[in-house]
Amino acid sequence: MTTTHGRVLIVDDNPANRQMLMRRLERRGFEIAVAEDGPTALDYLAAQPCDLVLLDLEMPMMDGMEVLTRIRQTWEPDTLPVIIVTCRDEAEQLVQAMNAGANDYVTKPVNVPVLEARMRTQLSNRWAQLALRVSEERYRVAVAGSNDGIWDWDLQTGSVHYSERWAGILGCQPQDMKGTVDEWLSRVHPEDLDRVRLEIDEAIEGRAAHLETQHRMRHELGTYRWVLSRAAVVRSATGVPARMAGSLTDITDGKVVDALTGLPNRALFMDRLRWFVERAQRYPDRLFAVVVVDLDRIKTINDSLGHAAGDELLAAVARRLEKSVRSLDLIARLPTDVPSAPRLGHTVARMGGDEFTMLLGDVTSADDATAVAVRVQGVLAAPFVIQAREVFVSASIGIVVSSSGVVDAETLVRDADMAMYRAKTLGGNRVQVFDGALRGYALRRLQLETDLRRALELSELEVELQPIVRVSDQQVAGFEALVRWCRDGQRVGADEFVKVAEECGLVFNLDLWVLRHTCTLLSTWPQAAYRVAINLSGRSLKQPDVVERIERVLTETGISPDRIEIEITESAAIDSLKMASATLTRLRDMGLRLSLDDFGTGYSSLSYLHKLPIDTVKIDKSFIDRIGEASDDREIVRTIVELAHRLKLDVIAEGVETREQLAALQSLDCERAQGYYFSRPVQTAAARVMVGTRLTVPVPAALAEQVSAD
Ligand code: C2E
Ligand code: CA
Ligand code: CA
Repeated sequence: MTTTHGRVLIVDDNPANRQMLMRRLERRGFEIAVAEDGPTALDYLAAQPCDLVLLDLEMPMMDGMEVLTRIRQTWEPDTLPVIIVTCRDEAEQLVQAMNAGANDYVTKPVNVPVLEARMRTQLSNRWAQLALRVSEERYRVAVAGSNDGIWDWDLQTGSVHYSERWAGILGCQPQDMKGTVDEWLSRVHPEDLDRVRLEIDEAIEGRAAHLETQHRMRHELGTYRWVLSRAAVVRSATGVPARMAGSLTDITDGKVVDALTGLPNRALFMDRLRWFVERAQRYPDRLFAVVVVDLDRIKTINDSLGHAAGDELLAAVARRLEKSVRSLDLIARLPTDVPSAPRLGHTVARMGGDEFTMLLGDVTSADDATAVAVRVQGVLAAPFVIQAREVFVSASIGIVVSSSGVVDAETLVRDADMAMYRAKTLGGNRVQVFDGALRGYALRRLQLETDLRRALELSELEVELQPIVRVSDQQVAGFEALVRWCRDGQRVGADEFVKVAEECGLVFNLDLWVLRHTCTLLSTWPQAAYRVAINLSGRSLKQPDVVERIERVLTETGISPDRIEIEITESAAIDSLKMASATLTRLRDMGLRLSLDDFGTGYSSLSYLHKLPIDTVKIDKSFIDRIGEASDDREIVRTIVELAHRLKLDVIAEGVETREQLAALQSLDCERAQGYYFSRPVQTAAARVMVGTRLTVPVPAALAEQVSAD
């Protein structure tokens, strides 16, 4: 920028406020001077010319009112505009200030684009006033040179004068503009129109002091711009409204750019998408695609490296996304001349959080979009260097192509989101294209989630117990509690809903419910020797108050901690080893026993057995399946048992289904076993009958059911 918009004096006693405003206004082309108190400000003004003052009301020594009064003793509002910066709750002072000659005000926290718009209006008025004194010609130049469009509406005749700049903001030629108010209103975004009409009426009827409204207006190119319309109503001596005159400021840049990444934000993305949707209705064979890119596990990065690092990463991701589509076509940035001109190229936007979207214009099929998505995955796979560390990210990507018969932008984004979400539940780092089946899947899932919430409230859940036996003599040695859901009269297994509970944040409640239910049950059992194992999801383990919540359940039900064993899956424990071991240690110190579930399925590293404070290892069913034969699995189990024993850990074999498997476990010196060979999970009443028995043959299902019916 070669010339500045004007010299502005910021008067504020708070150094942080001063600095913030100074930096941001300088970036926008203003020349800034600062004063930390009233006397300094007055000295400054006396010494050099200044175009505008931003004045804080609350200041020690000499308050803003006093400064304002003194300024007005020397300068008129037309020659030195003063904008008050005030807190919302200083309404009374504000009225006083406006009466004492303040030109305008903004409230804290300051919205800089709005402040800038108001400053420009004041400055252009000031220039206009100054120019008017010199000549009419200069006035015209001043208005044309200011960034604001000017309009003047004769309320008696209905004719409106629009300035050249007013037309320019909307990409129109001044000579094509009709001098009617409809010329303006017909361009207002349909969603904003009723509100704008109301605000105009209020100003004319005197119910509002003036008009000040932000809304969207259609540009000649078909996109929408965000504008600020401000106006005052001029009344005759008898109070009849005669004219309404004001300014129009383009505030699109402040509205539509994501500050962190510099990419278009959601509002702009949706605007562009709507434009594509409309075009597709006219030219159905011109396809486009919406691609949602959601980073996997960025929370871990925020948690471990801090938010500043997270922000840096998002900005870096934005750059790579831009690059990955740039070669396909020119990327939509915000050029300064026609900022949101639609292109049939591509737009990358940040929708918020760690979610990015891409609008791919002119694709021929879903395959084109998939190719872009795969390229994005490749581009993101290289490590990022953030705060001198290498950070790896992956993304779940959902795609929807305009051919799927969708008619509005919102639905398209929702469908792409749904596909992305599906990619995420399938493990992340995937690309998923939306199709109708997915909508059915998502609806069912949503229904499941809603029902599950209700199930927890209405206690539609139940616990089944599966006995755990001593391998040496098949004597029942304890139970594992497994959750069930009685949904519409049908018993649903844990596999069908525990994952959903984890995804929608219900699993901690669910786990605590199972714990409480089981403890209550145990308190009615005469035999105090039995221990019951409870499953604790990795999600629950990460809750900050998990230890306290478990302790509370034990105290309230009067169950001694050594009767409960907590099962944690290997992957949950190792996912965040440090945090998990700290929590596990606290649980163990409380007297609970801990076992490592599904051992062998996750990281399968024996070295973790040393690192975790556990009592028991549960070897996963997949190893037990082939243990009856001479197989590698048999050798693996042997090794696990031997190492566990050396570390003074117990071993439980899961999923034992045959006599041969049992025999093998006996020869391997494994202490305990669990599986259909001994018994399926049974209802609690049946479990109680099993206490103290030997399960040498499988309990016939009929017997288990008969007992549970008693
Ligand atoms: P898990 O902890 O590994 O539980 C053992 C699963 O294997 C149970 O399935 C059990 O019914 C099944 N099973 C036991 N013996 C045999 C056998 O001989 N053959 C076969 N084929 N299967 C056997 P279930 O009850 O469907 O539970 C599935 C998983 O759901 C559990 O795996 C556990 O991870 C989770 N789960 C169950 N209840 C809870 C709970 O209250 N909270 C949490 N967080 N997870 C739970
Ligand atoms: Ca388990
Ligand atoms: Ca298991």
